[in-house]
Amino acid sequence: MRRNRNVKIVATLGPASSDRETIKALFEAGADVFRLNMSHGSHEEVAARHRIIREVEHELCRPIGILADLQGPKLRVGTFADGPQMLEEGAAFRLDLDPAPGGASRAELPHPEIFKALTPGAALLVNDGKIRLKVTACDDESADCEVIVGGEISDRKGVNVPDVVLPLAALSEKDRADLEFVCDLGVDWLGISFVQRAADVEETIGLAKGRAAVLAKIEKPAALKDLDAIIEASAGIMVARGDLGVELPVSDVPPLQKRIVRRCRAAGKPVIVATQMLESMIESPVPTRAEVSDVAQAIYEGADAVMLSAESAAGDYPVEAVTTMNAVALAVEADPTYREIITHGRTGSGDAVATAITAAAREVAETTDIKAICCFTHSGATAQLMARERPFTPIIALTPFRSTARRLALVWGLHCSVTEEVERFKLAVVSAARTVLADGFATEADFIVVTAGVPFNTPGTTNILRVAPCDVKKIYAGEPN
Ligand code: PGA
Ligand code: MN
Repeated sequence: MRRNRNVKIVATLGPASSDRETIKALFEAGADVFRLNMSHGSHEEVAARHRIIREVEHELCRPIGILADLQGPKLRVGTFADGPQMLEEGAAFRLDLDPAPGGASRAELPHPEIFKALTPGAALLVNDGKIRLKVTACDDESADCEVIVGGEISDRKGVNVPDVVLPLAALSEKDRADLEFVCDLGVDWLGISFVQRAADVEETIGLAKGRAAVLAKIEKPAALKDLDAIIEASAGIMVARGDLGVELPVSDVPPLQKRIVRRCRAAGKPVIVATQMLESMIESPVPTRAEVSDVAQAIYEGADAVMLSAESAAGDYPVEAVTTMNAVALAVEADPTYREIITHGRTGSGDAVATAITAAAREVAETTDIKAICCFTHSGATAQLMARERPFTPIIALTPFRSTARRLALVWGLHCSVTEEVERFKLAVVSAARTVLADGFATEADFIVVTAGVPFNTPGTTNILRVAPCDVKKIYAGEPN
């Protein structure tokens, strides 16, 4: 089974997408990575989703990436006794520390440090900024507010406090417990929310101890000041536009998205563009034209992945949302202008042999009729360098490690395959040819490019580039060694 596009699709799982049938349908519709949002759902629910993903992966024999997204020091209201509530403009609304379910005139905000930092006049933004409250009076345990902009409030909606500097650590107690839990389950990516500085990323890497790759969500103004260091420290990045557009004017978000995607492409780190991409599909089987343009724009920028949040987690049309993203990707990637833009945006340098080899592999593939570029990779680094080249020939990442294949599922253009560890180059070429034939990228009459590092079993040694036939008999007959 193969995909026919470069950009990857991340689908968040939730109540609308927790059964095996839906998760399998999401994968078949095009989801490459599933996101487990630790802000919602119990550990049991997360473990059940995780187990089903791995079952589907096993059944369909394709590596699937799992991104566990830690809530971070995100402020959220508690729950509501009678479901969602409509807050009307001008009404009074109280936030306090009482864990009892809320209603039309109050809700829990379980963050004592916030009440200490609030002052009258401060703005509180609820539910991705849809509701705006103004603090009229406050003490150490509560805040009385006036509804300035009304809207619907419901269980655990996010709260942003743009006017106040909040004394919050990178990871809360809950984040640390969640981190241990998901690392024990076995996830490929660990998302961290509200990163403010590179040190937040380094702290998380220390706690993850190599069990998952750390992906920093850019959603705070402070993170933009330390962007290059955060990208350098992280294995991947998310342009978390929901909170970014609440903490900053929304008109700042498109240029920031462009800047972050471009820097990540140059660094060869996967970047996800996230949030409200097909928002109306939570309730509608078809997207708006503006949403389609938003998804398309991220793809034209060369982002590694586009993401669905509530659309797939809690909406009425989770599978349709993935199908829509897939269709937009196919349309964009078939556009000759897409190739021009991607080629133009090709950036990144480096003096390593692997950089030269991957650049050469693209040139060879694009100037001759090569059907696939096959990269043998241990850590995934060579495959990521190959993806950074943004070639228009399919890239096959071959790795003996299932964990590497799963992690690389997030990266632009990579078709990942777990292979046996090979010790001779000829066997590596045979293995590459077999994969390409089996997964439908070429026929026996075609040729492929193979990159590898010899001696094998030594990570970071990519030093061979070879043009080889797909015909295994010819490889055995002609290949030296
Ligand atoms: P969230 O992050 O969905 O966890 O809030 C994404 C965003 O803020 O855009
Ligand atoms: Mn966020």
